[in-house]
Amino acid sequence: MRQSSFTCKILSILLVCGCFSAVVHAQTDINGIRVRPSPERTRIVFDLSEPVEHKIFTLSNPLRLVIDISNASLKAKLKGISLVDTPITKIRAARRNETDLRIVLDLNSEMKPRSFVLQPIMQYGDRLVVDLYTPEQQIRTENQKAKQISRQMRDVIIAVDAGHGGDDPGALGFGAQEKKVVLAISKRIHQLFAKEAGYRAILIRSGDYYIGLRKRTRIARKNGADLLISIHADAFKTAEARGASVYAISEKGATSETARWLAENENRADLIGGVSLDDKDDLLAGVLLDLSMTASLSSSLDMGTAVLESMSKVTRLHKKQVEQAGFAILKAPDIPSILIETGYISNPKEARALNSRSHQKKLATAIFKGLKNYIEKNPPPGSFLAWKKQGEKAITSYVIAQGDTLTTIAQRYRVTARRLKEINNLPSDVIRIGQVLRIPTT
Ligand SMILES: [Zn+2]
Repeated sequence: MRQSSFTCKILSILLVCGCFSAVVHAQTDINGIRVRPSPERTRIVFDLSEPVEHKIFTLSNPLRLVIDISNASLKAKLKGISLVDTPITKIRAARRNETDLRIVLDLNSEMKPRSFVLQPIMQYGDRLVVDLYTPEQQIRTENQKAKQISRQMRDVIIAVDAGHGGDDPGALGFGAQEKKVVLAISKRIHQLFAKEAGYRAILIRSGDYYIGLRKRTRIARKNGADLLISIHADAFKTAEARGASVYAISEKGATSETARWLAENENRADLIGGVSLDDKDDLLAGVLLDLSMTASLSSSLDMGTAVLESMSKVTRLHKKQVEQAGFAILKAPDIPSILIETGYISNPKEARALNSRSHQKKLATAIFKGLKNYIEKNPPPGSFLAWKKQGEKAITSYVIAQGDTLTTIAQRYRVTARRLKEINNLPSDVIRIGQVLRIPTT
């Protein structure tokens, strides 16, 4: 008897509790509404007792924004909310059905709304945030997002190798030392790239010490170099030889290098242009390596031509075309590489020029400009410069807002959804708010 009455009590407590909690969770209180105008947007924050589900949409004639909030009741006072400097002329609220709340913002101009919920943090509880953008503000926000993305995009990395160093002085003559001249030119090229957006140069040798040739290409690869340039100065047995030359690797050098690469087990695991060779048989690996070598050879020749053309404006050329030779420094199969002979140290006039700061500066600037010309035309995929090149041609960006679908965006910009997916590398039709799409302009 006692026992059953006790059970009864527990049951009734449970029932009361259940009922009570159901009442608490049924309605979310909107305890405050804050309206904050700023140059970027007008922000409306709803302070909530619990998280809510909501929907927003705009209506015209007259212009208004409707915010439907499920299971909510308004505890905050609408009177006294300052609407100065906002596009809102009035805030109204009404029950929509037995449980839901409809808040209507009357607007004096067309606005792009965006809404999201915020979880409690510090003194703030759950919040619903509605941002209103004028068309100009929206464009500005999109541009800012595009800028952020450009910052995330990678730089083109140029490995600058000053030849020789330490106990290896290189060519000597008429008071000039090759190792010193080429380090000065390399440092200046490095400085010039440091000021350019989208580029990053690395110095393979930054002081007077020797680095082995294989190690130089290893350093370039370790730093993710897209290109490698090796700076030198020539010497010849007669003083008459003069002028600058640019070299790329020879086909023969490339072929023998292929053989050497295959022979060395440690290189088998290396990535050649993104293709891992360690699980390929020798014949296939050879073909892949040849392809990668040939691709980087043709890039090297193009890069060399651009540099030679630019150098011709500041110095005499020894040969008017890019020459080919089997220099070890040029044998990185996956990195387009050139070797630049800046002039003849064995020629007294050129030795004097090479030793002077002003001529070093001219040469460095010419090499820098030639490289820039080449890279701007052939930016590596995924780089900021590649994005910029496409963007300048015919691409605009669009930040996805609530309610957007691939189809509606495609219709708006008069392209097909398929084309949008293609140029944005989208695996499906799924897009998310805040995502930036590249849009081809017609
Ligand atoms: Zn040299």
